[in-house]
Order: sequence, then structure tokens, then C-alpha cells
Amino acid sequence: MFQPDEIIFAPTGRCNLTCAHCRVRRGPDELSSSDAIAFLDSCEAGGIQRVGFSGGEPFLRPDFLVALSGATMERGLYFDRLMTNGDWWSDETGLRSTLDSVRDAGFDGMIGLSYDAYHGQSPKRAAVFLATVFDVWGRKDVVELLSVRSPDDSDFLRGLDAVAAALGGRLERGDDGEPVRILDDTYAERTEADPDDGSGLVIPVIRSPRSSSVAEGVWESPRWFRDDFCEGPGNVFYVHPDGSVAVCCGFANESPQLIVGSISDSWDVLMANAAGSEHVRARYETGLGTLRERMEASGIRFPGKTADICFFCDYLCTTGLPPETIEK
Ligand code: SF4
Ligand code: SF4
Repeated sequence: MFQPDEIIFAPTGRCNLTCAHCRVRRGPDELSSSDAIAFLDSCEAGGIQRVGFSGGEPFLRPDFLVALSGATMERGLYFDRLMTNGDWWSDETGLRSTLDSVRDAGFDGMIGLSYDAYHGQSPKRAAVFLATVFDVWGRKDVVELLSVRSPDDSDFLRGLDAVAAALGGRLERGDDGEPVRILDDTYAERTEADPDDGSGLVIPVIRSPRSSSVAEGVWESPRWFRDDFCEGPGNVFYVHPDGSVAVCCGFANESPQLIVGSISDSWDVLMANAAGSEHVRARYETGLGTLRERMEASGIRFPGKTADICFFCDYLCTTGLPPETIEK
């Protein structure tokens, strides 16, 4: 069932990078802070508890981050991730002053650093960004590194080793060679002494596969995806720079089928639109796996199999839902 407890604001579609895998629509639209705060007020009574930020590159709108961080604090809500590529700054003075202003406004959530072969940041600049974040927030456990796997991650992994070394730590890998976290030798003992200490370095590395677009048509998995009812990136209101509100923070969130209204609509209107949307019900109630089985039972054949539920979701946004598979 679609019941969001978080709003993710994407204040701008602009970005300083041009990643090959980027799905963000770039355009002139920018979210206004006052509209976003009014929307937050409308949603608070409905049960929204957390606020996160994405983009584009949200640090290209520090005014928005400051205003919404302050509003979130004033309302006693929590923060989720502030996603960033960490590479938007031109000099260290500007980097520090921007981070200072966001911290001073009250942001105390996690910084989600997108760092992988597709983003291609320099390890040296990534390390400067991270060291400054640690200094500004006064702790070294405030960053998660989100990383999409690529066919050749050797340069990325070497870079990650260099970032870890520049921060005085090391990269810990799993048995399969995948990066697990960056940490320093004092982390375990400091955390054991005081779990809230924050002075030991730890950066979890969260790896994910790259979702293919429908145009790329990757149907080569030996198995089908499992239903997760969007428990990972879904169940949020995702506010795009043009004020449109999607029910998903993931891969397909610019698809019109997953847009349930705009920032000027009330919580009640958005929830009614979501409840009335067969696309939303398919993802949050029926389950895309069940829907896929129904489609096959009705004679529909797919080009192959995919283990990526968000790819399948994107596919259905393109093809539409067969009437015979829809629950009324
Ligand atoms: S940093 Fe994010 S928004 Fe910017 S180009 Fe890369 S994927 Fe797109
Ligand atoms: S399945 Fe669709 S709605 Fe759900 S998280 Fe993935 S892209 Fe978003």
C-alpha cells in the first residue's frame, strides 16, 4: 500500500556532471523554497516524518537546502539523505562555507555521496569533500557512499583505495572483492566504547546494479525479479524541480504514470490520486511480480527475463497495463 513517510525534494535538475547513466531531465525549472515549505506543512499532518534531498545536484541550490533544513528542524521532523556528487565546489573556502550554512540551518541527516565509475570524480577532490564534511559536522560517521557497479570498476576501486588512504583509513572488501566500507583502525574500539561517539571513520559503501533503460532493453537475466512493493527507493513523495510529485524516488520517477499531482495539491488530493491510479496500485498493492504472472497467463510474452524490478516498472510505464491484468 502506498503510504509515504518521506518527501524527497529535487530543487534543481541542473548538475555540474554529465554521467552517462543519468536519467534526470534537465530543464529551466527550479523549485521555490516557499512552495516546498507550504507542501511540507500540507503533508506533515498526513504522516510525513522525514525529508531528503536529491536532484540534479542539490548543492547547486544552497538557498533551498538552508530554507528546507530550517523548516524541517522547526517542525521537529527527521532528515534522510542529502544526495550529492560531492564535486560541485570550485574552491575549498566555498565548499566549507556552503556546508557550514547547511549545517547551521540544522541538517543532521546523512550525506549520500554518489561515487562510482559513471560519476568519475577525482579521488583527490572526493577526499577533500569528505574531509570537509567530517570537519563541518564534527563527526566521521555522517556519509554513505552510493555506488553503481560498472562492467570495469578497476579504476574506481583504485580510486576508492586512494580516498580511504587520504582520509587516514582503509577500504574493507568482502570475500567477493566488492567494497563494503571505508574505516580507520580506531572505529571499532571507539564505537564499542560509545556508539554515538562519531570520531571513528566509517563510510558504508552501498553498491547497486545499474538499471537499464527500456531503450537498452536488457532482458538477459536467468531469473525474474522478486516483488518488493518498492520498499527500497519507493514509498516517498518525490518532488521534481517543476513541482510535479512522483510516488517513487527511483529509476522511473519521471514517468507520467508515476506522477500523482503537483506541489500545489494537498496531501489529501495526492493520496486520492495515488489510490485512484492503476499504475500506483500495480506497484504498491498488486505487486509487479504478480502482475507479470498475470500478463504471462493472459498470453503476453516478454523478450526475456529481468531481475531488475525498476527496469520492469519502467517497461510497464512505456507499454501500459493490459486491462485484463488490472485490479479494479
Ligand atoms: S551527478 Fe547525478 S544528476 Fe548529476 S549527471 Fe550524474 S547522475 Fe545525473
Ligand atoms: S518499481 Fe518503479 S515505482 Fe517502485 S521503486 Fe522501482 S522505479 Fe520506483
